[in-house]
Amino acid sequence: MEGPLVAEFELIRRIRARATVRDDVVLGIGDDAALLRVPPGMLLAVATDTLNAGVHFPTGAAPIDIGWKALAVNLSDLAAMGAQPVWSTLSLSLPDGDAAFVDGLLDGFLALAQRHDVALVGGDTTRGPLSVCVTVHGFVDPQRVLRRDAARTGDDLWVTGTLGDAAGALAQWQAGQTIDATLRARLDRPTPRIDSGIALAPVAHACIDLSDGLLADLGHVCVASGVGAEVDIDALPASSELRMRFDLPARRVLQATGGDDYELCFSAAPEQRDAIERMAQDIGVAITRIGRIIDGARPRALLPDGREWLPSCTGYTHFR
Ligand code: ADP
Ligand code: MG
Repeated sequence: MEGPLVAEFELIRRIRARATVRDDVVLGIGDDAALLRVPPGMLLAVATDTLNAGVHFPTGAAPIDIGWKALAVNLSDLAAMGAQPVWSTLSLSLPDGDAAFVDGLLDGFLALAQRHDVALVGGDTTRGPLSVCVTVHGFVDPQRVLRRDAARTGDDLWVTGTLGDAAGALAQWQAGQTIDATLRARLDRPTPRIDSGIALAPVAHACIDLSDGLLADLGHVCVASGVGAEVDIDALPASSELRMRFDLPARRVLQATGGDDYELCFSAAPEQRDAIERMAQDIGVAITRIGRIIDGARPRALLPDGREWLPSCTGYTHFR
């Protein structure tokens, strides 16, 4: 234990004093509920994700990284819907009233909130095992929502950024090796692809954010859309750091099945190729074509010679 231990109301006071605000927040932290204004004609997109110590981050992780990641994984869900994030709540279960820990957590959370103009409008503070539950709210035009069930046979499959970096860092950590700093940053501080999601909304069909591994998450798209998918495994975009640290067979596993990428995987009609490539340039995010949607029921990864590449497992599942 480092800093002073304080009571719950003192923690809430500190959070309230630093909370980000917006004009559409009529009433923020301090009453029994927040009052928020949704613009006419827009849908409200809502997503929640919990990070538990020992499950989603190692016990002893830096509070600033926990705070960043707790918001980032939630914003990633809004990005995958094509939504513009606006509000958040932060529910903390804490073993004790460690003010320094909460301050550090806020440093990470609020840095990312400010970057995307997201207000912190409420939450809960209780005692228990360390756990951080964040809910985010976003606006989305009903005509431009990106859903999992909208993939069509004949669509191209695309992915933003690079895949496998976070899983690479985890693999190095599990093997007791020195963790490459660039890979580690991808694991600790994922970048939610908000701009990409909004820019894609008019051109993409289905979209999902990659949290549990490409093949596992693409499986959800296949089930929801009633389609199959082919992924050209050696077309998956890899960072130079990942190429440097892992050989091709290891890289394929990390890229196709590793979790925590928080990139967007989406489908779009082939006529949109030029528009998507222009868009990638405009927003400064790499977007790579990695396969196609076909008739079928599940995703298959293909080697360059057309044979199926079979992983030993497709992604992360709780309770297995
Ligand atoms: P109540 O007992 O009415 O639920 P609380 O004491 O839980 O009130 O919370 C008081 C106010 O502080 C509420 O507006 C709540 O949203 C806010 N709040 C509590 N914990 C947090 C937190 N961790 N982050 C942001 N706001 C919080
Ligand atoms: Mg409460």
